[in-house]
Amino acid sequence: ATQPYDDTNVFARILRGELPCRRVYEDEHALAFHDINPQAPTHILVIPKGRYVSWDDFSAQASDAAIAGFIRAVGLVAREQGLVAPGYRLLANVGQHGHQEVPHLHVHLFGGRPLGPMLA
Ligand code: 5GP
Repeated sequence: ATQPYDDTNVFARILRGELPCRRVYEDEHALAFHDINPQAPTHILVIPKGRYVSWDDFSAQASDAAIAGFIRAVGLVAREQGLVAPGYRLLANVGQHGHQEVPHLHVHLFGGRPLGPMLA
């Protein structure tokens, strides 16, 4: 585990409806919304609804149903956004070296332009 979950993080506030977001998808397991500072023409964040800091505690502690639901939601959003044929990129930053800024697990979904070999 990285750190205890902090209920005041910005994505927890979005999940509670305390802060707005440009929502693109929601189901019982996941919420997807546009990144406030997009790095590509399509830049969507997909987050699980449970209280998980990162990929680390999510993969270790979440139920199989929560993990499956989250991964299915990421794929569904990519298809709904028309990203599959041109291609896209998934990214999850974890912890300090991963430059994770918001301590609620999120997968970045980038697309809409050729992305190059890697994001630095
Ligand atoms: P990280 O570095 O933690 O992987 O990425 C956090 C992402 O969350 C950044 O791309 C940042 O632009 C985005 N972000 C931070 N605060 C907000 C917010 O209040 N709303 C939205 N939609 N995105 C946010």
